[in-house]
Amino acid sequence: ILGLLSLLAFIVANFAGHIMAGKAIIPLKEAYERQRQFAADASHELRTPLSVVMASVDVLGNDASIASPFLQQVIVDMRDEVKKMTKLVSDLLLVARSENQTFKLVTEKFDLIEAIHEIVRKMQPLADEKHINLFFVKQESVIIRADIQRIKQLLIILIDNALKYTPGNGVVTVKVDGEFEKNKIRIMVRDTGIGISLTDQHKVFDRFYRVDRARSRDSGGNGLGLAIARDIVNLHDGELYIESKIGEGAAFIVELKK
Ligand code: ADP
Repeated sequence: ILGLLSLLAFIVANFAGHIMAGKAIIPLKEAYERQRQFAADASHELRTPLSVVMASVDVLGNDASIASPFLQQVIVDMRDEVKKMTKLVSDLLLVARSENQTFKLVTEKFDLIEAIHEIVRKMQPLADEKHINLFFVKQESVIIRADIQRIKQLLIILIDNALKYTPGNGVVTVKVDGEFEKNKIRIMVRDTGIGISLTDQHKVFDRFYRVDRARSRDSGGNGLGLAIARDIVNLHDGELYIESKIGEGAAFIVELKK
């Protein structure tokens, strides 16, 4: 009898648990979706006034009648901040959209090597400014089917980070391994910079996570870059991982289907 009673109690408790869990989960999901939608709407709505402010700051910046060096500096600072905010708002929009699959991929066949070359060429001045050697050794074409704009965005995020977190005279190397596994390719962005500890390697893909907030803020980061990179790779059914030791540089490795 005691056994039967405890079995009954177990079944009742479990059943009640399920109902409670069911009740709790629905509002949580709704609350989450509402929050996501709010982030998407807010960032979308912020874009227009921000571009108006940017245009106005440009008008001020081009006004020759503003002779005061102090005011000129104010305009330059304002421009920098508006630029940062514009980037933050468009990154936020991307993140909010990608969670709802409204971030649709437009796939086509293209030469990945060509795409990387273009990005590396565009980022060369940034590397030169920091006295960093940015390398991409030209190799035979690797044709993949993917969203070319998103893949370029992914490359920009990874190369930009490599340049940001590598001190002067360092080296950033981009490599493609097209033969390591059938139907798969691997893109590697390796730097000789500050590196990432094992604990932080699990966190850097979280939204707004920055290992060193003060330093990242100085370098113009907002902590969304790697969250977007991870979303882009996930949407392509690929994998993104890190190989790094603190103080010994970092390698970001992307695996994509061909
Ligand atoms: P941020 O805009 O701050 O660069 P990210 O999401 O792109 O944001 O990166 C998150 C954090 O991961 C960075 O703040 C930095 O601490 C760390 N990180 C990213 N890339 C590198 C790298 N190549 N080397 C060392 N740390 C990195």
